[in-house]
Amino acid sequence: MSKDKNQSPILLKPACRARGGVHPVHNKFSAEQETVKLPLPERVYIPLRQHIGAPCLPTVSVGDHVYVGTKLGDSDAPVSAPVHSSVSGVVEAITPMAGVGGGIADTVVILVDECQQDDPNLHPITVETADDLVKAARDCGLVGLGGAGFPTHIKLKPNQDQPIDTLIINAAECEPYITSDYRACMEDGELIMQGIQTLLRTLQVKQVIIGIENNKPKAIEKLVAIAHEQQDEQNRIRVMKLPSHYPHGAEKVLVQVATGRRIAMGALPASVGCAVMNISGVAVLQHYINTGMPLTRRRVTVDGWAVKRPQNFWVPVGMLVQDLLAHVSLKSAPHKIIMGGPMMGSAQYTTNIPVVKQTNAVLLFDQENDLSAFSQGPCIRCGKCVAACPMSLMPTLIERFAKTNDIENLRRVGVGVCMECGSCAFNCPAHRPLVQYMRLAKEIERKGRT
Ligand code: SF4
Ligand code: SF4
Repeated sequence: MSKDKNQSPILLKPACRARGGVHPVHNKFSAEQETVKLPLPERVYIPLRQHIGAPCLPTVSVGDHVYVGTKLGDSDAPVSAPVHSSVSGVVEAITPMAGVGGGIADTVVILVDECQQDDPNLHPITVETADDLVKAARDCGLVGLGGAGFPTHIKLKPNQDQPIDTLIINAAECEPYITSDYRACMEDGELIMQGIQTLLRTLQVKQVIIGIENNKPKAIEKLVAIAHEQQDEQNRIRVMKLPSHYPHGAEKVLVQVATGRRIAMGALPASVGCAVMNISGVAVLQHYINTGMPLTRRRVTVDGWAVKRPQNFWVPVGMLVQDLLAHVSLKSAPHKIIMGGPMMGSAQYTTNIPVVKQTNAVLLFDQENDLSAFSQGPCIRCGKCVAACPMSLMPTLIERFAKTNDIENLRRVGVGVCMECGSCAFNCPAHRPLVQYMRLAKEIERKGRT
């Protein structure tokens, strides 16, 4: 990077430090491998619910021919996102099927054909206003690509009571192993910057901050160079180097570190004038605007100690994990399979589940390197879980209240703000399953409300 660029106002320092957090080893072994496109499987299995909110109802029937990009399901509910076909072929069945979190969702099974044609009705989209942008985000089925799958159009919807002045692009990717956003920066930089210009123009925000951890110098250099080329007179696009510190990519933590603003319990970033979008999501949205092709495939990191050659793959949404793994060489037998990162992902009991929009990684660990195999001991009251919690919670106390079904005290200590980041469990010398207790505690508190 030239001296000029280092001194430019494009590079921002964090507004403040995050509380708590931990320093897991990064293990980003796939970072420098280009994304590989996989051959298509014989069938794909596309769930009609791949997001937080109402499931979609099918818009196709068994026997219909569909194209790449054809809408398969939609919903009138305000919180939902349509799903589209990732292949061309024939709808064989619409049937309930287990998904990533163990939940059951109606799933469209498509027998893949040989010609793989894009839907002839797809066309570039005109986006002039914020309303056009929100419609585009909804129509392309965009949801949070690394988390729980919150529909993006809701975050972008203009609200006069909560105007957005800052758009934060989340490129932190703070979980170990995962490099799908990093590869998006390296391979889709122009598309991302074009997308940021679209967001800037339509949302009329005062600034765009791209938050990225300082352990990704090549991606930072690339983003800064492109931002230089695309900069407007007010220098509204900035790149913020974040310390490599988990969980900087968590939405609430990122907003606080990037702007110094704290989001209250149960509130969205819009409550403090911010919208947060994942960097790969920006590329998906702009690709849709340029071509009309909705979200039908995604970049997935395949890594872990059982994998011989860690790398990213372009995977059609709905490809079974077992079909994906048929293209992966292993160096040892996998003992544990995690969808997502080792901190927030979920262990799977089967590979007979489809890759969905939110699947950013599939990690395979052998028995020898399964760190969760440590046996848990009693709490020694060291307080390390409290020190690690970015939300200032007391996990050890919450564990106790969960075990006694004490809804009142669970509310009093604010269990609802737990984002299940796993920092407490990571820091616990007694290997207590604190995240599982947090989930249980949240469920007890939620049921107590109904
Ligand atoms: S870190 Fe583990 S051992 Fe220490 S107080 Fe928390 S739960 Fe107890
Ligand atoms: S999982 Fe919940 S309690 Fe544990 S550190 Fe993260 S936010 Fe805090």
